[in-house]
Amino acid sequence: MDSTESGHKTASEILGLMSISVCDGVPGVMRISSGRAGPIVGVTVCSHGNEPSGLAAVDYLLNTLKLPVNLLRGEVYLVVNNLQAALESKRFVSVDMNRLPADTPTRDNDPASEVRRSRELLPIWKKFDVGLDIHSTSQDAPPMIISLGPMFHAELVRGFPIEIVISNIDRVQRGKPAPAFYGDSEKTKAIGIEAGQHDVEQAGKCASACAEALLQNLGMLPGTTVQAGRFREFRVVASIILPDESYSMEGVFENLKHVEKGTLIAKGSGPDFVMPIDGCTIMHNGKPHPDDPKNEALFITEPEKAW
Ligand SMILES: [Zn+2]
Repeated sequence: MDSTESGHKTASEILGLMSISVCDGVPGVMRISSGRAGPIVGVTVCSHGNEPSGLAAVDYLLNTLKLPVNLLRGEVYLVVNNLQAALESKRFVSVDMNRLPADTPTRDNDPASEVRRSRELLPIWKKFDVGLDIHSTSQDAPPMIISLGPMFHAELVRGFPIEIVISNIDRVQRGKPAPAFYGDSEKTKAIGIEAGQHDVEQAGKCASACAEALLQNLGMLPGTTVQAGRFREFRVVASIILPDESYSMEGVFENLKHVEKGTLIAKGSGPDFVMPIDGCTIMHNGKPHPDDPKNEALFITEPEKAW
């Protein structure tokens, strides 16, 4: 069955639709309003332009859940964050949108595509009471909730088909992830998800289920959610940034794999990088070098805590 017969659209069809959707003069944004008071929720996708699972969630919200008809209260903004990179099927054009400069809002003449795009989106991002930023991973990985900000919002992620929680990564990483700019008060709640591997259909389904559960938890869609089980938390405590071109990763570090203290991680012309604790590794792209040489090649977490 092709996409027209099923009523559903492929990622590139959804991207095409979103790229010509303009809200408040900003392309790549669709606003769905219930006409009733309630929370303003941003579902943001393609912060990395090569991650299509968020587009599957946009398709699901529009064409399966028929959000424009069925939204019970409040407003939902659907946003293709890194529109240019998505159109070019690249992770980013000039700057990783998960590593934005902290002073992005005031960088008037910065030529970087992502800084300009973030500044264009800022008036929309600022409206969010709740933001869900949808990602997927280059290596095969179970889905993960990325806890952003000081609090874990268990009441918002109830019913997400995800048991793994990555915490503290926004404190350890370089720069600011796009959701750091969502909302305009401390009451704004932002959550990230890694829905699975980029092109795997299951990742799109996971992203769709999370978006639906979030809106149910906020009373914006009919239905109730139940928390399936315990969470498995991996707290990020360190990262590895390769100092120069002479360095490369010593193997493929799988997501959430336990790695013993002292294990060699990267080698180059200077001192070796070894695992500083008994813990786990996440977010290695599986290659000898990171996609952006300035950015983290790998993050290190404490051992798993279940609760
Ligand atoms: Zn991503």
